[in-house]
Amino acid sequence: MQLLKEFERFRALGHVHIAQPAIILIAIITLLHGAAHATDYAGPLFDAHLHYNTEAWNGQSGPHPPSDVLARMQRSGVRAIVANSRPNDGTQLLASSPLVRQAGVAVVPFIRLYRNRADYDSWFKDESIFEMVKEEFGKGTPGGAYKGIGEFHLYDSANANGVVAKKLMVFAEEKGLVVLAHVDDVAIDLLMANTPSKGQKTKLIWAHTGIGGVPVARVDALLAQYPLLMGELSYRPGLTCAATQDGERLCPEWRALLLKYPTRFLIGSDTWVNQRWLYYDDTMQGYRAWLSELPAEVARNIAWNNGVRLFNIAASSTTKQ
Ligand SMILES: [Zn+2]
Repeated sequence: MQLLKEFERFRALGHVHIAQPAIILIAIITLLHGAAHATDYAGPLFDAHLHYNTEAWNGQSGPHPPSDVLARMQRSGVRAIVANSRPNDGTQLLASSPLVRQAGVAVVPFIRLYRNRADYDSWFKDESIFEMVKEEFGKGTPGGAYKGIGEFHLYDSANANGVVAKKLMVFAEEKGLVVLAHVDDVAIDLLMANTPSKGQKTKLIWAHTGIGGVPVARVDALLAQYPLLMGELSYRPGLTCAATQDGERLCPEWRALLLKYPTRFLIGSDTWVNQRWLYYDDTMQGYRAWLSELPAEVARNIAWNNGVRLFNIAASSTTKQ
C-alpha cells in the first residue's frame, strides 16, 4: 500500500515535471504567434490585379456593388488598384464612382479585351477586339485615361503571334500602356519580340509570374532580359511553403528572388470570380503575413511602391496609410 502511495506521488510529480515544460512551450508559441501578427506588414497595399466583372455587380447592383468592394479594400488597407473588367463597364463604374474618390482609393484603369467569355479563346485573332480597344482608349474613363491593357490569357503560347496579339503589343508600347498578361514563359518571349523595342521598353506585368510553375531560374532570366517586366504574385505556385503556426512562409528560392529584384514584383487579388471577393480580406492578410518576412523596405516596395512608380500615382495617395 505504501508502495502504491509512493508510486501515486511519483506519478503526480511526473505529471508536474512533464506539464511545466509543456506550459512554457505553449506560452512561448503564444508569444511568438502574437509577435508575428504584431509585425505583419502594416503599410498600404497596391492591388495590381483586380477584376470587377459583370457578375460581381450585374450592371446595377449585384452581390458586390461598389460600396461592398470598396469596404473590402478599405478594411484591407488597399489604397490603389489596377481595375479591369468583362466587359469594360465595371472599370468605368469604379473609375467614376464618388465613393471610390471619397475613400481615397486610386483607380488605375485597364482596357479588358473581353466583352464576354467567348472572347477569351479568340481575341488574339479577332480584329473587332482591336477596334474595341482603340475606341475604348480614345474614350478614356471619368477618372482619367486608361493606363493599360489586360488581363488577357494565352492558353497556347503560339497565339502570341496571332495578328491581333501582335497589333496590340505594338499599340501598347506606342501609347505607353502597361500590359497585364496571364501567359507562360514562352509567350513572354513571343509577346516581347512583337514590340518595336523587342521588349526593352515594354511594360508588361506577368500575371501570376508563371502560374504553370515556371522554374524560378527561368523567371530570374526573364527579369534580367526585359528591364521593365514585372511579376504579379497571385496564384503563384511555389511562392509559399508549408504552413506553420503563423500561416504560410516564403519558400527560400522565392525569397531570394524577391530580394534580388525588390523593385520588380507586385501583389494582386485576382477577383476573377465572385468567390474571390468573399475572401478578399484573407487574400490581403496572406500577403501581409509573408511580406513581414522581408526587410521592411523590400516589403513596402512589393506591397506599394512598385505599383506607385509603375503608374506614377499622385504623391497625395502615397502619403496616406
Ligand atoms: Zn485575373
